[in-house]
Amino acid sequence: MTSARRTTPKLAMLGGPRTVPRDVPVPRWPVVTEGDRQAVQRVLDSGRFTSASSGEREITGLEHAWARRTGTRHCAAVSNGTTALSLALAACGVAAGDEVVVPALSFVATALAPLHLGAIPVFVDIDPATFNLDPAGLEAAVTSRTRAVVPVHLHGLPADMDEIRAVADRHDLVVVEDAAQAHGVRYQGRPVGSLGHAGAFSLNVSKNLPTCGEGGLVTTDDASVHDRVTTMRQFGERIPDRGERAYVSETLGWNAKISAVQAAFTRSQLARFDDDQRRRERNVQRFLRRLTPLAGLAVPVGRPDRGHGWHILRFRVDPAPFGALTRSAAALRAVICRALKAEGVPVSRYQVVPLPCQPIFTRGSAAAGWRSAPCRVTDIATAAAVVEDSFTIQRAHLNPAAGPVLDRYADAFEKVWDERDVISRMAEARATAGADTTTRQDRS
Ligand SMILES: *Cc1c(COP(=O)(O)O)cnc(C)c1O
Repeated sequence: MTSARRTTPKLAMLGGPRTVPRDVPVPRWPVVTEGDRQAVQRVLDSGRFTSASSGEREITGLEHAWARRTGTRHCAAVSNGTTALSLALAACGVAAGDEVVVPALSFVATALAPLHLGAIPVFVDIDPATFNLDPAGLEAAVTSRTRAVVPVHLHGLPADMDEIRAVADRHDLVVVEDAAQAHGVRYQGRPVGSLGHAGAFSLNVSKNLPTCGEGGLVTTDDASVHDRVTTMRQFGERIPDRGERAYVSETLGWNAKISAVQAAFTRSQLARFDDDQRRRERNVQRFLRRLTPLAGLAVPVGRPDRGHGWHILRFRVDPAPFGALTRSAAALRAVICRALKAEGVPVSRYQVVPLPCQPIFTRGSAAAGWRSAPCRVTDIATAAAVVEDSFTIQRAHLNPAAGPVLDRYADAFEKVWDERDVISRMAEARATAGADTTTRQDRS
């Protein structure tokens, strides 16, 4: 490869030219069309702004459409994905003192949701290739206090639901899917959100199915779960379809309603969701095909029996096949990220520690009066390794028109990989200087 190396321009972080020109903007997400604007305008003109407004149609329209799409009997729209998880768990009977198994790698909301109910998150390890909850870890973590499990379809890839369901059925656990990153994805032909007792989705502006702010959806086949969610999102009240509101609270409720503006915007996005997702799939597959041959880089994988929403792209680095002098994956990952950023690739980390290493679980919350939030941690060695040796691309690739930019990003990866000896020397220096504090230290 000496000849290739000689023709490769110098790395941008060392003063060479950027691979991705500065005038190529990071593609925007979400895309906002004239149709989206009109949908919002219709709500403003209607004067019906929440699910408590008599005759409101945007929220119920979104709920019906999402129930149809996920093949579930019911869907309730709520204020965001975190409340969707909390309400789904509460509606399924999870209460204070119950243990709820969650993966050690996810967005923090997966673990905050049970905490808000006084329940105890139990952190279980992930699979090193799919980054999803390890079913064997779940089985090993179950105690007599375990009440529920929250499989997360992390980054858009459905979790091993057959195996998880089997463990859950054996121990009589409630299964609430965290599908915040996996809208519209199928597992063995069945849509996520229909694979457990309830499913929770986020409509946050960053997700594959966004709103222009915050929103969430709870899906379920169980009419009583749905009834409890709609009551709890509304101060514990039942809102009649017609006639006067009684202002009677029957149960402990939140105010977790979605705005009709948010619902209308998402409905408008939903009309082109499948087309967007198809184009995204094509772009990402082409991108990953170019990165697959790079030595020491593990690209995100799918599984033949399920789709992938490609919400986040996570890459792991491995020093030995990369040809690095150092064995510190963290140091190598840090230098590769610096090099890629300088070339114009918007890489980031998305979780710098496993969930139980978040300060809320190690140092607690003054507001809640906890020196540390109640939780239980099992062996999470894989999650700890993954956060050290991996980096992500978020959002930029979600725009269905991102194909050409992803081609430039792939050029940048190839350039950085052509300069592996330079990267290797810098990683070695970094490791020797001890620049990367490990999560293992943080944990003790
Ligand atoms: C975004 C997200 C949530 C929380 O959703 P919000 O709408 O932001 O509250 C929960 N779990 C996962 C895995 C997420 O990515």
